[in-house]
Amino acid sequence: MEIQKKIKESYNEMVQLRRWFHQHPELGFQEEETSQYIKDYLRKCDLRVSSIAKTGVVGLLRGNSDGPTLLLRADMDALPIQEKNVIPYRSLYDGRMHACGHDGHMSILLVVAKILSRFKERIKGNIKFAFQPSEENGGGALKMINEGVLEDPPVNACMGLHLWSFLPTGAIGIKSGPIMAGREHLVLTIKGKGGHTAAPHEAIDPIICTANIIQSLQQIQTRELNPDQKLILMFGKIQGGTAANVIPEKVELEGTIRYLFEDDSMNIDDVKQRIEKIIRSLCDAYKTDYTLEYKYSFPQLINNESLTDFIISVVEKCNIHSQKLNIVPLFTMASEDFAEFAIRVPSCFFFVGANNGKKETSYPHHHPNFNFDEKSLMIGTEVYIRCILEYFKTYNKK
Ligand SMILES: [Zn+2]
Ligand SMILES: [Zn+2]
Repeated sequence: MEIQKKIKESYNEMVQLRRWFHQHPELGFQEEETSQYIKDYLRKCDLRVSSIAKTGVVGLLRGNSDGPTLLLRADMDALPIQEKNVIPYRSLYDGRMHACGHDGHMSILLVVAKILSRFKERIKGNIKFAFQPSEENGGGALKMINEGVLEDPPVNACMGLHLWSFLPTGAIGIKSGPIMAGREHLVLTIKGKGGHTAAPHEAIDPIICTANIIQSLQQIQTRELNPDQKLILMFGKIQGGTAANVIPEKVELEGTIRYLFEDDSMNIDDVKQRIEKIIRSLCDAYKTDYTLEYKYSFPQLINNESLTDFIISVVEKCNIHSQKLNIVPLFTMASEDFAEFAIRVPSCFFFVGANNGKKETSYPHHHPNFNFDEKSLMIGTEVYIRCILEYFKTYNKK
C-alpha cells in the first residue's frame, strides 16, 4: 500500500520532529516557538492554517469532495519539571520539560497531515488538525471551542490519542464510555482564632478541625458510594501554622476530586454538596469558619460508543511490522481536557502503548526521567491514518 510505504519512509522525520519539540518545551498558553514551528510546517503541506486560543493552531485540509469534517487533536504544552534524562535531545530550557509525551503527539499529527495532504482524492470531506495549547492545567480545549474550532466547517467527530508509558509498545488502550476521570480542583480554608498552645481554651484551633475534616471526607468514598463508581478525594497541599507553640489563625488546603461514574446514579454535584455539608457541620462543631471554592474542573472523558467500536474495528485490522496490535480495554483516573470536545461532538480518545520494556521508557508520565519508545510514533501515525481513511469511506455512506 502506497500510504504504508509513506509512513515507513516518514519514521526518521517523526523522530526528528519529536526531538525538536522535546528540546523546546513551553508551558501552557506560552507555546510561541512551538506554535510558529507547527504553522510553518503545515503551510508547507499546503493546508489552510489559522491561529486560535492564543498559541493554538488549526490546519484545515479540504478533501477533493464534500463530506463530514473530522477533527484530530494534539496537545502542545510541556511541564515545569527539570529534565533528568541524559540524552542528545534533552530539554534546552531549565525547569521545563516535555514529560507527558505531548512532543510525540505533535509529531504524529504533523506527519499525518503531511501524508494525507498528498492523498486529497481519498479524503471525502475535511480534516481539522487541531494543535491545542495548555492541556496540563486545562483551559486550552475550552478556549479553542469558544473561539470556534468546532465551527466553519462544523465538526462531525473528534479523535485524540495519548502515548502511554503504562502500556507496552504495540498495545492500544481503548474502551467506550468513561475512559478518563473528571477532575475538580478544590481550595479550602479553615479559619480559627490564633493563640498560645498553653491556653487552647482562649483560641479556636483550626488544625484539629482540619484533621477531622480530612478524615471524615473519606467516608463519602467508603460509605456513600456504590462500589462500582470510582472516586478519589485527595489533599495534596496543606499549610497551617508557623511554630510548635502557636495556634494558627487558619489552615489552607488544596486537593483534587477525581471521578469516573459509569452511570447516572451518581453525579459530581451531589458529591460536592456532601463535601460542603460535612465541612460545614464539622466547622460548626469546632466553632471555626471556612471558605470553599473550586478553581477549575475537567469533565469526565466519555468515548462515543459507535465511534469507539468503529476505531476498535480498524485497529483490529492494523498490521504494523507484520504484527497485530493488542487491544486493551483500559480506563485511568488521570484527566484530559479533550473531554471538552467529547461532551459536544461524538469523540474517541485512546492510548498508544509506548513502553518497550527497558527502564528508560518505564517511568511514569510527569517524572523527570520520563521518555517513551519512539516506535510508538509510527504506530500512532498508522492508526490515525487508517482510522481517517476508513472514516471517510464508512461515514459518507451513512
Ligand atoms: Zn500530563
Ligand atoms: Zn498528557
